[in-house]
Amino acid sequence: MKPANPIDTSLALDGEKRCDLCDGSSFELVARLDRRGRPLDTVACTTCGLVAHAAIPSDEQLDRYYADEYRQDYHGEFAPSDRRVSRAWKNGRRLLRQLSPYVDRGDRVFEIGAGIGCNVKAFELAGFDAGGIEPGVGFQQYARKCLLAHVDNARLFDLRPTAEHDLVLLIHVIEHFNSPRKALAHMHSLLRPGGRLYVECPNLAAPFARRSRMFHFAHIHNFTPATLSMMALRCGFHVERQFSTRDDPNLQMLLVRADEPRRVIDSTSYDQTMLALRRYNNFTYHVRWNYVWPRIRKLASYAAEHLTAKRTVRRLLERCRSHAELAATPARIHRAA
Ligand SMILES: [Zn+2]
Repeated sequence: MKPANPIDTSLALDGEKRCDLCDGSSFELVARLDRRGRPLDTVACTTCGLVAHAAIPSDEQLDRYYADEYRQDYHGEFAPSDRRVSRAWKNGRRLLRQLSPYVDRGDRVFEIGAGIGCNVKAFELAGFDAGGIEPGVGFQQYARKCLLAHVDNARLFDLRPTAEHDLVLLIHVIEHFNSPRKALAHMHSLLRPGGRLYVECPNLAAPFARRSRMFHFAHIHNFTPATLSMMALRCGFHVERQFSTRDDPNLQMLLVRADEPRRVIDSTSYDQTMLALRRYNNFTYHVRWNYVWPRIRKLASYAAEHLTAKRTVRRLLERCRSHAELAATPARIHRAA
């Protein structure tokens, strides 16, 4: 028998439910199972097109889930493997290249949900004042002890609204909040005026998964380009740049802190959502070329990773250690004098 999801998310559309983006109360049921075939009711808001669990988990339920179960449930490991670290490091360097034109050396960069700390470390080694928070103890400890990265074991709402950061990173995290609107509003308060928020998350509008594999207990909200843009406006940001195209499996959006939150509803958004959900069945999903070719490349890169991961991680850890020693040197010289 398949194990149940951590909480009962079966349909609870009793008129009390409100859409996190537009406050609407009319929903269409779009799925009844998660990607593993376990019960998980998923709905689309008929006003704005935002897709979410029918019953949203509470803060307490999520805290418990992320502190203990999530990393193992999701990745099958408590501490990261060499392959995971190697892949995360590569991704951190990609992010640094992508976002470098929008920040200056010495800027304060902060990641919410920093995982094993590779993004934070990539920015720190490039001369930024970089830090972050990660709620999962196993990965946060790896970031601290192995990468010597400034990653604390804390939650977003533990952070004081100090308006001091130049860039906040939110990489595959927004889909995990029970209220993305509340979360983005808090991030707004962490950024200096004109500061930037970079968001990356799965793109529901892209053929990243067939419908039966789309939904996951941990992904409470599922975004399209339209719903993420509207959410940004609603929380007092404007969209500076979309790096991703319509068909990319991930949305990559750079937002700028503006002043006034605006409730703007794209009247085509609901249709876009429903079209995306109806786009592929199991057969058409697997035979399309833009699935097959990236899949082959991905499998080839996994094979190469397997061979090189150990060496990549060893070099990375050496680099982190020598960077930390170098940073500590002036203090020692000073003391000796
Ligand atoms: Zn809505």
